[in-house]
Amino acid sequence: MIANFTFETLPCRVVFGSGTLSAAAAEIERLGGKRALVLTTPPQEDRGRRLGAALGPLFAGIFPGAVMHTPVEVTERALAALKESGADCVVALGGGSTIGLGKALALRTGVNQLCIPTTYAGSEMTPILGETKDGLKTTLRNLAVLPETVIYDVDLTLSLPPRLAATSGINAIAHAAEALYARDGNPVIALMAEEGIRALAGALPAIAANPGDREARTAALYGAWLCAVCLGAVGMSLHHKLCHTLGGAFDLPHAETHTIILPHAMAYNAPGAPEAMTRIARALGADNAAQGLYDLARRLNAKLALRDIGMPEAGIDRAAELAMTNAYWNPHPLERDAIRDLIARAYAGEAPVPQPPERSSPPR
Ligand code: NAD
Repeated sequence: MIANFTFETLPCRVVFGSGTLSAAAAEIERLGGKRALVLTTPPQEDRGRRLGAALGPLFAGIFPGAVMHTPVEVTERALAALKESGADCVVALGGGSTIGLGKALALRTGVNQLCIPTTYAGSEMTPILGETKDGLKTTLRNLAVLPETVIYDVDLTLSLPPRLAATSGINAIAHAAEALYARDGNPVIALMAEEGIRALAGALPAIAANPGDREARTAALYGAWLCAVCLGAVGMSLHHKLCHTLGGAFDLPHAETHTIILPHAMAYNAPGAPEAMTRIARALGADNAAQGLYDLARRLNAKLALRDIGMPEAGIDRAAELAMTNAYWNPHPLERDAIRDLIARAYAGEAPVPQPPERSSPPR
């Protein structure tokens, strides 16, 4: 039976395909932009300069200094560059780090954003911004940071090394997986979530086998877009909270952390979200959602242990404490010791262990 739901769409224009980067100038003009500041990470600066050359008179300059977790000091330097260049809009060309910087600028100045994602992280579809100041990461949700236009160009993802494609793709799957049991979920988002997981689960092994497989790269980017819409539309739970906590407290890499935690978070939440688990397992082509995600990560040669990506063993208890702060909704009750066990298993790279079934679900 279909439960009551609320459905709201976020205003964002999407241009998807191959060779779509060539639409950048027209899309800037469509937004009323006259001069655009291009944002990139240092490794993607050359790509940003080539885009700048193609933009001709619309190119106001480049700020190639985006880094992970949107530190406020970097935003302040980018603000100065924005002012100096006389730009009236930004073009964020890159992954979640670059897109985060564009959002931080939009929040402070109101500039329009054209996003051109080159990973599967999904920030381009959300009104969410995480910023770091003095080592503390805070997250806000504000429509002012939602990008106006997004160009997905499969060609730009061909350079994403299979190892990065794997973890970034599982990062995207995490958005869809949590959307399937979100308290504010709805049937349309559930359709997108299941299809997003299916597209990525099929494409990632094909990319690992042949990084030049355009069909697989296209399916992965399509899946990433669907998963990104899920992240922007409904609330996330334990998995995202844990990754946010671990990333912020121990400066762990974003996509790898998601990849390691996801199977364990799904095993933890399975008793409170049986229907979601059935849909995730079906999309993965697996018997069990948590084990299927673990097997996918293993098959893609992703790292499976937090200790292998820089987490200190002494941090397990602290992470468990942090995960219990600022109460948030979760389909399965949050218990400190069980969460500590979850983190300890993820630390060691063990397979996920299911929780015993629940007698009654928490109030929705
Ligand atoms: P990233 O943007 O830091 O990129 C990782 C690395 O890959 C960088 O060195 C980058 O230069 C390189 N790279 C990116 N695309 C490439 C390509 N096509 N080819 C070759 N190299 C490429 O990593 P990410 O995982 O995309 O983003 C992580 C950040 O995004 C985190 O700070 C996270 O908090 C944020 N994020 C925010 C949201 C949101 O809704 N606010 C959602 C997801 C992620």
